[in-house]
Amino acid sequence: MKIDLVELKINGEKSYKYKPFKYCCTKMRDNPYIDFTNENVSSENGNFGGSHIPQFCVWEDTFERVDNFFINFCPFCGEKIEVSVVEEKDISDTYKKLEEKRIFLRKKSGILIGK
Ligand SMILES: [Zn+2]
Repeated sequence: MKIDLVELKINGEKSYKYKPFKYCCTKMRDNPYIDFTNENVSSENGNFGGSHIPQFCVWEDTFERVDNFFINFCPFCGEKIEVSVVEEKDISDTYKKLEEKRIFLRKKSGILIGK
């Protein structure tokens, strides 16, 4: 199973989108304890917080928080899970333009209300 990620950068902050992919099997797809996430990801090397790329994880609900343990193989059919960044986009400019537009529109509507 291969999952292709697009890494989006906005002013140095990274976020990820994944391209459509096919699950290796329905057991994997329908399992409620497996998530595709990069929040609170743990491995034998420690906790990555939110800095890691998203992975398939089995989550474990402890009293204070949810721990996500990432898996490299499907626990049901044994297929290897490969997650990789195939594209990087810096969308800071687009984001900035949208922000300027938003400010412009807000000012404009303010003027109209003022009349
Ligand atoms: Zn599978």
